Amino acid sequence: MKDNKSGDDPLGINTRLAHAGHNPRDFHGFVNPPVVRASTVLFPDYETMRDRSQRYLYGTRGTPTTDALADALSEFEGAAGTILVPSGLAAISIPVLAFAKAGQHMLVLDSLYSPSRHFCDTILANYGIEIEYFSPSVREDFASLMRPNTGMVLLEAPASNSFEMCDVPLIARTAHEKNPNCVVMMDNTWATPLFFRPLDHGVDISIHALTKYPSGHSDVLLGGVSANEKHWKQLRDGQLALGVCVDGDSAYLCLRGLRSMGVRLQRHAQTTLQLCEWLQGHDMVSRVLYPALPDDPGHALWKRDFCGASGLFSFVIKDKSREECGAFLNALRIHGLGYSWAGYESLAVMPTFEDRIMAHGPNEGTTIRIQVGLEDAKDLIADLERGFAALA
Ligand SMILES: *Cc1c(COP(=O)(O)O)cnc(C)c1O
Repeated sequence: MKDNKSGDDPLGINTRLAHAGHNPRDFHGFVNPPVVRASTVLFPDYETMRDRSQRYLYGTRGTPTTDALADALSEFEGAAGTILVPSGLAAISIPVLAFAKAGQHMLVLDSLYSPSRHFCDTILANYGIEIEYFSPSVREDFASLMRPNTGMVLLEAPASNSFEMCDVPLIARTAHEKNPNCVVMMDNTWATPLFFRPLDHGVDISIHALTKYPSGHSDVLLGGVSANEKHWKQLRDGQLALGVCVDGDSAYLCLRGLRSMGVRLQRHAQTTLQLCEWLQGHDMVSRVLYPALPDDPGHALWKRDFCGASGLFSFVIKDKSREECGAFLNALRIHGLGYSWAGYESLAVMPTFEDRIMAHGPNEGTTIRIQVGLEDAKDLIADLERGFAALA
């Protein structure tokens, strides 16, 4: 794995992952920060209380445990600051609420993570924001979608479940040219800041479901939102106004996962490529959707902007209905049937694209999404064989 092109730190990424966010000397030399569980923080006297002149004031505003994680994430995202929220979905809703104004127009990628879309279509629409979806294939024509009141743009790359790439730098640049105050946000969960740093490509707010690779063990729900200098204060003020915070235990587990994220990702990526190449040669498969493959339609953009690919992809079983493909899923013994991803264990699901307007996803068969875990590739391939055998 090569280091992120845009990072300017001379240390390698795994060295930085091992040490970021916490200085053992701050806590008597213990390698890890303590898990601080806190509401009340005591002040030594009235004057300190009046002047708010100590580092910690109250549990909702952060603790040494949450700060260790947030600081590490800011370092990797190249951000002015990071807020922590209770889930990846909250990492979409909280920044959007922090920047939303009634009467605004908002441009949203049509192939966005479905629950994020649902938030836009319900709560946000009810607050008087006009939502307009756009295709991941948009290029220069993005300029014609921008209006004087377009206040927010929400992106994700590659797209959830169908893995189309979009031109992130072009969209961010165009949005800011048309309206310098437009806030460009991107869900960067698939790539992690190791493979793509949105802020270096003109995005204002980078969103991460920390539930996924940073935590990595299917036992934590957490989200992170990292902002550039211009947007950090409003993001942080919005979080405090909404009263959203996370507990020390979740932050601790995520920080613990982060230490091994680089080596895990390397392994996830390596196994994923083996599975993809095997599936590409299978006569029941019409397509594998993964931008790291040279013949993927998004490969050129991925290669230009990203420096790695993670372990989530889809493939299409040709000429089979969803009902028929139920037998494929039922035959799997190693791949679990379950939502979420980026843990150590492999998973399979059958996504739908029903809520989309123009990015309809493959239509020549049924799409299966695979989360590639840390198991041995040969065993995962044998498991997929079992699935195909059940279909034959
Ligand atoms: C899983 C996921 C989320 C939401 O994360 P949760 O912690 O499960 O709420 C957001 N965005 C993307 C792209 C995801 O895959």
